[in-house]
Amino acid sequence: MPEPTYQADVVVVGAGIAGLSAARRLTSAGVTTVVLEAAHEVGGRMATEKVDGFRLDRVGRLLSTAYPELRRAPGLDGLVLRPFDPGVLLHSDGRHHRAAAQQRGGRSARGALHAVRAFAGAPRPGSGPRRPVAVPGRQVSVPRSRSGAPLGTAVDQARLGAALTRLAGTPVERMLARPELPAAEALVARGLPARTVDGFLRPLLSALLYDPDLTTSSRCADLALHAFASGRLCLPEGGAEALPQRLARTLPPGTVRTGVRVTSVSTTSVTTAEHGEFRCGAVLVATGARAAAELLPGLRVPGFHPVTVVHHTTDEPPATGASLLLDADRGGPVAHTAVVSRVDPTRAPAGRTLVTSTVLGRATPDVDTAVRMHLARLYGVSTARWETLAVHHTAEAVPTMRPPHDLRRPVRLLAGLYVCGDHRDTASVQGALHSAHRAAGAILTDLGGHRSLHTAEPVPTARAA
Ligand SMILES: Cc1cc2nc3c(=O)[nH]c(=O)nc-3n(C[C@H](O)[C@H](O)[C@H](O)COP(=O)(O)OP(=O)(O)OC[C@H]3O[C@@H](n4cnc5c(N)ncnc54)[C@H](O)[C@@H]3O)c2cc1C
Repeated sequence: MPEPTYQADVVVVGAGIAGLSAARRLTSAGVTTVVLEAAHEVGGRMATEKVDGFRLDRVGRLLSTAYPELRRAPGLDGLVLRPFDPGVLLHSDGRHHRAAAQQRGGRSARGALHAVRAFAGAPRPGSGPRRPVAVPGRQVSVPRSRSGAPLGTAVDQARLGAALTRLAGTPVERMLARPELPAAEALVARGLPARTVDGFLRPLLSALLYDPDLTTSSRCADLALHAFASGRLCLPEGGAEALPQRLARTLPPGTVRTGVRVTSVSTTSVTTAEHGEFRCGAVLVATGARAAAELLPGLRVPGFHPVTVVHHTTDEPPATGASLLLDADRGGPVAHTAVVSRVDPTRAPAGRTLVTSTVLGRATPDVDTAVRMHLARLYGVSTARWETLAVHHTAEAVPTMRPPHDLRRPVRLLAGLYVCGDHRDTASVQGALHSAHRAAGAILTDLGGHRSLHTAEPVPTARAA
């Protein structure tokens, strides 16, 4: 039997959050849309694995409540974001120091940063007087400065607070018009004390940008700090897959076809490995950068930051609450770690603890051993009896954003051929959703007053999701 031919107004290639979000916008506008996904599940890089009742993200997901697209993208309303404790917890010299942003709480519509508070050994907010927290199992050394190394003196902290306050209040377009340097150079050029840069900004930005060397464009670093200063770091309840699952559920039944790999595209059709040709009025390629360049020769392939995420469970939860913990001393491979089950209890079975840690750079065979040793220092407890639940390595996790970085790469290649994904914008969930917003807008503009002419038909053997 010859393969049948299917028709739709738009075929979207890839069911990551970019493709699903674009499909949601298109179907809402009355455009018949088919999303073809090579894998057997939707979500792309935002997958969540289930192991013994734990929900384990392949990505060490850090979202910000300040990401505009999380509020704007249709289909994501109702998404529950679980915030970390305010700011971050910095580990230095065997002690914990909280660097938290105080917000004006309603006095400013933008929720601008009021000041940076830093104090040595801060326990969880609201959990009593601010006394130093000795890291158990280690001799507590005398802090280098009363005001809380690694954030420097009170004057250093005031300067940092002022810089973040300014950034929180700066309109995005103005940030994008600033001269562009590698982030590490820009931080020094702005006259911030070296200890503030090394003790706070470098570990924070490494965690937010997945770039330990801070080669990322200073504009992207400013955007990341802007989101940090004007929102709260958070995790999606239930795991990273909550976003794509929620988007997929809001699409008309049968829109997404999984297990269908696209092998070539044109302005009027796509060819698939499994089901022949799909004819359509327009094609939107919403794959990762490398797959997009294979389908669209000539498209630039960026470099990538490799990322490893390690999940452990223990019966004795470390006493860091729901904080994101960073190592100001950079004494091991872990860039950031958290007792994730404290942030989002749905990720672990009742009474169990889930600790998730993120390592930047290439994977090494002994990564779990190195991570355990580092975690023992960071949390101040023995990790010898911790159980490893999963080690996920993604070689092409996050596209690099070295200067000059175009944050608004074209999404319309030709009338009828479009591209979106995190490689067209900032390399983040916000960037993937924003590129989808732009691409859907371009398609709708090109289609003009067009109303759907075609009815998508089911693919017999592909699984609809
Ligand atoms: C380890 C890790 C940590 C991260 N941490 C963060 C973070 O803390 N904060 C943040 O904001 N972002 C983070 N990110 C980035 C974020 O996950 C991505 O920016 C986002 O998921 C990209 O979505 P996308 O839809 O553009 O691409 P993808 O999720 O890659 O989706 C593309 C889809 O296209 C499909 N596909 C590919 N080729 C074909 C084909 N030929 N035919 C059909 N389908 C095809 C793929 O199977 C995939 O499902 C992280 C990523 C990783 C991997």
